[in-house]
Amino acid sequence: MNLELFVLGCGGMMPLPRRHLTSVLLRREGELFLFDCGEATQISLKKLNLRWKNISAIFISHTHADHVTGLPGILMLSSQVERSEPLYIFGPPKIREFVESSIKVLDMYINYEIIVKEIDEPGVIYQGDSFRIEAFRLEHTKPCYGYTLTEEMRPGVFHPEKALELGIPMGEKWSSLQKGEHVVLADGTDISPDMVLGEPRKGRKFSFVTDTLYLPDIAGHVKNSDIFICEGMFENELAESAHEKKHMTAGESARIAAEAGGIKKLGLIHYSPRYTDKDLKVLADQAQEVFPDTFLTRDGQIIPIKYED
Ligand SMILES: [Zn+2]
Ligand SMILES: [Zn+2]
Repeated sequence: MNLELFVLGCGGMMPLPRRHLTSVLLRREGELFLFDCGEATQISLKKLNLRWKNISAIFISHTHADHVTGLPGILMLSSQVERSEPLYIFGPPKIREFVESSIKVLDMYINYEIIVKEIDEPGVIYQGDSFRIEAFRLEHTKPCYGYTLTEEMRPGVFHPEKALELGIPMGEKWSSLQKGEHVVLADGTDISPDMVLGEPRKGRKFSFVTDTLYLPDIAGHVKNSDIFICEGMFENELAESAHEKKHMTAGESARIAAEAGGIKKLGLIHYSPRYTDKDLKVLADQAQEVFPDTFLTRDGQIIPIKYED
């Protein structure tokens, strides 16, 4: 099953000519999930040639302009296709007001159902087919959430030689066992899947954290992520000003990745516009000192998220 991450924008605060505002899209076998939606998100979707008008759900970290101003355009243009499934929008308080007032003031024609869910309690907010999306609290100048998408464990590898040894006929019973179901043989013997399967295998995990102070709790939520996208707004030397604005330094983001354990890659995002493209290297260098598997996200990047086995 394919899982891919598209970086639509990696900038913070204001859009720059070659750096749109923070937004990433996760595509899981045709299902699309959007995380944050800064200004010009539509342009990036268009550039990547994504068939995006059927996004299943949008997850907003917080209602600062650089994370939501792309939303009205996305809602409006989604009406250009027929859709029978509703579009879910999750976010902190005020997201409903933002969506409803945009639709009203702009007299938008919307031909599908929009279900806005303001998150009061962190935890599982979206249950998909063999994966879940969870929200957890961050600490910023207004209510803000981080998100993880976690796939369920997959059944272990099927061992045909064990199945033959146990006298299980090839065919339907083999595929039931591969799916992790019990089967009963003609002579009444009950075969449990663990008799023919290896150890259950880990699913994949994606985490998205932006606009927050360093909090020790974040590590627990994002641990074992295959990709951890986290704000890298400021270099370590600007810690004081970062903290005043309730942001982190690149070094602090890397500290979370290191403390969490099991993280394969940290992708920095939401860069301060003070850094030119060349200057971004300092953020990567400082993060890599703490967590070597760090990279800089860039607009237009496509990152496949693979199973570890
Ligand atoms: Zn921001
Ligand atoms: Zn913010």
